[in-house]
Amino acid sequence: MTAFPAVFVSHGAPLLALEDGPAHRFLRGFGEFLGRPRAIVVASAHWTTAAPAVSSAAIPATIHDFGGFPPALYQLGYPAAGDPVLAGRVASLLAVAGIACASDPDRGLDHGAWVPLMLMYPAADIPVLQIALQPALGTRHHFALGHALAPLREDGVLILGSGGATHNLRELGAPDAPPPAWASAFSAWLEQTVAAGATERLLDYRAQAPQAVRNHPSEEHLLPLLVAAGAGAPGRRVHTSTTYGALLMDTYVFG
Ligand code: ZN
Repeated sequence: MTAFPAVFVSHGAPLLALEDGPAHRFLRGFGEFLGRPRAIVVASAHWTTAAPAVSSAAIPATIHDFGGFPPALYQLGYPAAGDPVLAGRVASLLAVAGIACASDPDRGLDHGAWVPLMLMYPAADIPVLQIALQPALGTRHHFALGHALAPLREDGVLILGSGGATHNLRELGAPDAPPPAWASAFSAWLEQTVAAGATERLLDYRAQAPQAVRNHPSEEHLLPLLVAAGAGAPGRRVHTSTTYGALLMDTYVFG
């Protein structure tokens, strides 16, 4: 069988789960486009730790890790099983790559994981676990995390980075505003750099991409793309749209 692709999705605001729009509609068809993985390993912007960790709960809880949204959003759950055996394999693969990884049996699924998965695989019948990000360790570390996990793709496992192609929450516009030029320029650079498989340029995006710091005042929403790229670069963009002007909702497929 061919290796399952690695993927990066932009998850936008939590309301993506409920509100119709271009990215919502795209993600609702994206699971069928990809096919059915055996299991899913999510690298979400919303789980950050000082040192690498993998979630090993047999039944991960749905975490509503946001505030100020309509009650309906807090009633959503994603009752997928975990996969403690796969969590052990993740830790082993990282160890082989020289990366020590702790196991966290209490960690549930944050909205960076369950919001896109609810649209992509609504039956919630595929095991899901998460790996944590370490923003202080930068792009190269996250590319290495993905690279170490690449063999899982041969076993039909989906490595899913979930963050945002752009993510400046201080410069949001109206829900349906067009993207500002500084966000479009970054998105275009990312598309070209990923398609070219220009790994060194991608790793150095903060110095080389136009308006990198304005689009990512902090790095945690782009680092999941580095994980997916590490697992399967080069890649291609399969969706682009925008929400609140400044949040590009681009999705990439690697491998
Ligand atoms: Zn987010």
